[in-house]
Amino acid sequence: MNYRISDRAAALSPSLTLAIDSKAKQMKAQGLDVVGFGAGEPDFDTPQHIKDAAARALAEGFTKYTPAAGIPELRQAIAEKHRRENGLDYKPSQIIVSCGGKHACYNVILATCQPGDEVLIPAPYWLSYPEMVKLAGATPVILPTSDQTEFKITPDQLRAAITPRTRLLVFNSPSNPTGTVYSPDEVRAIGEVCVEKGVLIMSDEIYEHLLYEGAVHRSVASFSRAHYEHTILVHGFAKAWSMTGWRLGWCAAPEPIAQAIDAIQSHSTSNPTSFAQKGAVAALTGPQDHLKSWLAEFDRRRRFAWQALNRIPGISCVNARGAFYLFPNIAGTGLKSTDFCARLLEAEKVAAVPGIAFGADDYIRISYATSMANLEKGLERIERFCRTLRG
Ligand SMILES: *Cc1c(COP(=O)(O)O)cnc(C)c1O
Repeated sequence: MNYRISDRAAALSPSLTLAIDSKAKQMKAQGLDVVGFGAGEPDFDTPQHIKDAAARALAEGFTKYTPAAGIPELRQAIAEKHRRENGLDYKPSQIIVSCGGKHACYNVILATCQPGDEVLIPAPYWLSYPEMVKLAGATPVILPTSDQTEFKITPDQLRAAITPRTRLLVFNSPSNPTGTVYSPDEVRAIGEVCVEKGVLIMSDEIYEHLLYEGAVHRSVASFSRAHYEHTILVHGFAKAWSMTGWRLGWCAAPEPIAQAIDAIQSHSTSNPTSFAQKGAVAALTGPQDHLKSWLAEFDRRRRFAWQALNRIPGISCVNARGAFYLFPNIAGTGLKSTDFCARLLEAEKVAAVPGIAFGADDYIRISYATSMANLEKGLERIERFCRTLRG
């Protein structure tokens, strides 16, 4: 039998995050004391009222197909969230609820990009974006940045990268993996270049609520009618409501794009899980006070980790005021990221994600979605590891 794998699937890069993660899990299973900084999800539980709403829906038999784009109640609640928090006017018909924010991104790219199209992706990037672009048959074009500019692209850099083939800019602020938050003025300027050049923006705003030190999030769609018309906003329940396993996200798009995504989804996944959607309604319409204590705790860890990293020889880390990641520069250790992370895991049993997975080989990603005790222990080990490199 010839198990020929399609070109489409064969072109994908295997996930480095998952490789490190499985090595770390294997070591844990052997009883080793591994400290994990790889987490891409909050370490808090989903708030109880959200779980209750889903449990109630399940008990009441809300277990059948729903409309592919989500239940009207949830699409309405999402439209109201955007009006209330972002000053954005979306009709429920412009909102498509998908099986996670990742699925929402994939739908957006599939609905808008095709062979011959170029998609601009600032690096360091969330590692799924380029692979999604490849799955759509389009070409990822990477815009490199460094810690010198807090990992931000500039309007001039963006303008210079746009060609007649450019279809879409992927924009993610606050950012995974860097924690960078663009200021409102910077977001407006990036949007203006896209408007001027007729390029769509996929704005992944899933970390919108995770902000520290007075950082402000402004959706690129919110600056003008033209910005709004060029933007497809992606969001989800995973991060601010700690619902990663529920698989629920959404996009808010101009009507024709929303309709295309509805069609794609109706022939692929159909609706996201029915009773999970009822939980999501509770997430948006219920109390939000969980967020305040989560943010206080994240911020405490963030400050601690940032200071501890900057005391380690060979490492420097820019401040990052969003999400739950720091992205320290390790160039001073003389190692590239894969080597650094493999040796760190071997020598000190600390799992971090090599920056090369995000298109930045001189960095590693540290997630502070883990306990303060783990941060203290793990950072002490990283320091010891780095001292051995120098000695
Ligand atoms: C976590 C995350 C998502 C969405 O995750 P889901 O679990 O699929 O909802 C989307 N974009 C970025 C940058 C993320 O970090």
